[in-house]
Amino acid sequence: MPKSGNDLGVLISKKVLTLNGMSPYTTLGITLSAATAVTILVKKRKKIAYAFFNDLPMYILTEHRSAVVTIVGLPLSLLWDGALQLRGQYIKYFKSAPHLHDARVEIIQEQVKNRVDKNTPLCTARPGWASVSLSYRNYKKKWNAIEIPLYDILNINTDNLIVRVEPFVSIGQLTHALNPMGYTLPLVPEMDDLTIGGLINGTGIESSSHKYGLFHEIITELELLLGDGRVVIATADNEYSDLFHAIPWSYGTLALLLSAKLKLIPCKDYVKVTYTPHHDKEAYVEHMRQLSGEYNNKGNTTPMFVEGLAYSLDTAVVMSGEFIDAEDVSRGSTNRLSLWWKPWFYKHVEKMLFLKNGARNNDPIVEYIPLRDYYHRHTQSLFWEMELMIPIGNNIIFRWLLGWLMPPKVSFLKISQTEMTRLLVEKTHVAQDFLVPTRKMSKFLELCDDEYDRIYPLWLCLHDHSPMPGSLLKDPAKPGANGHEMYVDVGVYGLPRCVHEKREDEFDMKKSMRKVLKELVQMDGFQMLYADVFNTREEFEEMFGHEEYRLLRKKYKADGGAFKEVYDKMSVIL
Ligand SMILES: Cc1cc2nc3c(=O)[nH]c(=O)nc-3n(C[C@H](O)[C@H](O)[C@H](O)COP(=O)(O)OP(=O)(O)OC[C@H]3O[C@@H](n4cnc5c(N)ncnc54)[C@H](O)[C@@H]3O)c2cc1C
Repeated sequence: MPKSGNDLGVLISKKVLTLNGMSPYTTLGITLSAATAVTILVKKRKKIAYAFFNDLPMYILTEHRSAVVTIVGLPLSLLWDGALQLRGQYIKYFKSAPHLHDARVEIIQEQVKNRVDKNTPLCTARPGWASVSLSYRNYKKKWNAIEIPLYDILNINTDNLIVRVEPFVSIGQLTHALNPMGYTLPLVPEMDDLTIGGLINGTGIESSSHKYGLFHEIITELELLLGDGRVVIATADNEYSDLFHAIPWSYGTLALLLSAKLKLIPCKDYVKVTYTPHHDKEAYVEHMRQLSGEYNNKGNTTPMFVEGLAYSLDTAVVMSGEFIDAEDVSRGSTNRLSLWWKPWFYKHVEKMLFLKNGARNNDPIVEYIPLRDYYHRHTQSLFWEMELMIPIGNNIIFRWLLGWLMPPKVSFLKISQTEMTRLLVEKTHVAQDFLVPTRKMSKFLELCDDEYDRIYPLWLCLHDHSPMPGSLLKDPAKPGANGHEMYVDVGVYGLPRCVHEKREDEFDMKKSMRKVLKELVQMDGFQMLYADVFNTREEFEEMFGHEEYRLLRKKYKADGGAFKEVYDKMSVIL
């Protein structure tokens, strides 16, 4: 037995020197090489560990994201969803207290008044990952994030058709409360997790927007906390009407929202949807314009819901819908879209373009869809984003086995992204909504087809655009007799064809984005700002009106450190 380290050394060297009967010099050489390798390995241990625990997972998450999303992501997302639901239930049972609204407002007010650093801008403390957008809202870490624990429906008044809500009430929470009572919001944006605060300060659109406008059109009152700590109530015709009109599209840069009153309408259990296939661009553009009511038949024959899905420049299915009572539904034609094994909605609609024998179909098809299923027709496939993440997601076997796990939460997808996938997404993945006057729709579709190298489907959602003095959104350039103009949201989500075909170099996101945005301004259009903003400040100010906005920021103490301007909050160029 060796007694000391030295003895051990001698013993090892003796053993080594006689290793396999090799010559002492060969053995010494091998030993030295091994020792050097061990030393290098020890030195590189950290690097190897880093590669194993960091680079390898990054590689797998980046290069095999769809397998990871399917095998790990979907079950984890289910747990994540469960945790968020528990959190929701916890808030509901332990934190929900509509009667405490005023007391809570006072606490929030104190945070704003007593903040130490008055030069660091204010924002809500809602984490960036929770926002239903592709943006990370990184500014939250650096700014004065104000806790706003306001999650309650404060009052539902079915006589006056008004609901009063706190800003972090979600669309899902609200429709679950309202629909069983026979009421709904005039427009219900697609995802359950969207919040009323986000939809008012940002924007919201849906297939009833040709009748009711963007989300802000259904607000009747806003309770707001100003940068100097004052709380004001703003309506369309009181002393704060200028602020009332300027809050939409302000992205939390004028005031913090504390509550809002929204309009209600009666609803029915089902929607009767008529799908009309088209094989000619001008035909589907014209059909949508007619359904929109822009040719002066608004309110009479205009359907409750209108939307289009374009599958190429020349093919689209235009859908119109009406509320209908359950007893009037013809049973053979019902379609419960929310059943887990149902095909993705846009795939189901695409099939209507052609008959079984491959010939073009030109005949309308009618279906009856339960109201909540209609509201969430694009949720299962996150419009068509799921196809990129799980290409086999619409396969019938996948749907039967795992369809009930779909879709993963947007918040989970954001959290599980690596820096590499985030950068890849930023470079190649288009996710934008462009609001264009319908008179320019045909031309804009050609531009998108060209610049985004045939990304399809496109979401086509009409909306009535009315003047909003003081807001960033410019007034209609060519208004009709009522001062309004009909617009269409062209939603472009996906990868350009060259990227699909592994010719990524042919696509330059910044260049294409800026070209499209430039033309969009010429067409009197706007970009929805939940998406990445690629404009320079000058280009941004050309698209959105800043004159009155800046006056209002001064008047209501939003400038001078309290809130940043919208561009400074949303731009990816900065
Ligand atoms: C998959 C997907 C599907 C979508 N579907 C639709 C759709 O069908 N229809 C549609 O219109 N849009 C849709 N959107 C876009 C969505 O409308 C916007 O991203 C929306 O603004 C985000 O809502 P949010 O509740 O997550 O708000 P956030 O992103 O958290 O907030 C939006 C803005 O409002 C500000 N804000 C929020 N609360 C307050 C407050 N209390 N006080 C002051 N400022 C506040 C925030 O600071 C932020 O600037 C979709 C987006 C994605 C990613």
